[in-house]
Amino acid sequence: MSESLLEVRNLEKYFPIKSGLFQRTTGHVKAVDGVSFDINRGETLALIGESGSGKSTIAETIIGLKSATGGSITFDGEDITDLSESELEDLRTKVQMVFQDPTSSLNPRRTVEQTLEVPLKARGVPRGERVSRIVDLLERVELNPEHRHRYPHELSGGQKQRINIARAISIEPELLILDEPTSALDVSVQAKIVRLLDDLQEEFDLTYLFITHDLSLVRNVAERTAVMYLGQIQERAQTEQLFEQPHHPYTQALLSAIPVTSDDEEAYKPQQDRLEGEIPSPENVPTGCRFHTRCPYATDVCETDQVPLHAVDDHGEARCHIYDPEHADAFENVPDVKTAAAVRSTPHE
Ligand code: ADP
Ligand code: MG
Repeated sequence: MSESLLEVRNLEKYFPIKSGLFQRTTGHVKAVDGVSFDINRGETLALIGESGSGKSTIAETIIGLKSATGGSITFDGEDITDLSESELEDLRTKVQMVFQDPTSSLNPRRTVEQTLEVPLKARGVPRGERVSRIVDLLERVELNPEHRHRYPHELSGGQKQRINIARAISIEPELLILDEPTSALDVSVQAKIVRLLDDLQEEFDLTYLFITHDLSLVRNVAERTAVMYLGQIQERAQTEQLFEQPHHPYTQALLSAIPVTSDDEEAYKPQQDRLEGEIPSPENVPTGCRFHTRCPYATDVCETDQVPLHAVDDHGEARCHIYDPEHADAFENVPDVKTAAAVRSTPHE
């Protein structure tokens, strides 16, 4: 049994752009462009980044809703990059996903009981046992057993998402992909759902890929975090490390936008202004470093040269020329370069 449950290697998803009378392919949306990461059994990996950075495309490619145009995905030692429909069915007994919108993922004409019965039936749970299993599942997600008679429109957003979570865990999967599971919910409900997910992970021995645009959500949940920008991972590190000493200017900007709640956090907070400007279109990604159009430290080399992920310390990697000793001179005046220069950095990918 290998330690990592999921291995994503150089994953690529390009969507063709078609135009004209003959719908010729005139370009590509590089939604995911060379993404690699592992998730170990029982851990939570957070994937964060602004809207449009390719997070959902990665999730949908893993679960087979979209096919990769390059790279590979391995689950529990088996290549799952390109599966047939029947193989996908099999995969989905082990990998489940919870989507952002709790309403559209539920059939409005089915009661909670009818919804939760489907996966139980598929797993061969006898009819006589199904109601007690459903009651049990509802209790696990902290809902009242009586909720099983309700239709989605009779439930709040948070309650609906609890049903989606109950459905996902009902088949006892190994990996749960959570694609912005709380983004559509009130702030007061978000923390409760995150806490529930944390409890369920322990109880059911689950592995999570936790996708969000909200960094503050993952701090206490994810062991490691990967930061996406325009289809690429810009930085990855132990989550605590990432918060205490973010290395990539993009991560620094994301962190500086989070409200602080203590003096400790204030001390750690990067003193960088909020990000200016819009995220460029993945149809037309900037040359060189993809972040250079919004980076406060960008120099000539950033406009021209692509950047590999550089190992920055024992735990982290950042896709930034600042950490390339060859370019040290170009960034002399950058406040974080002192840290950068102190760290031995080597190209990693
Ligand atoms: P995120 O989840 O981080 O917001 P997505 O993975 O949804 O990002 O989208 C990444 C990029 O891919 C976006 O620019 C989006 O418009 C584009 N995209 C997603 N799905 C399709 C599709 N089916 N056809 C063309 N472009 C797409
Ligand atoms: Mg998304």
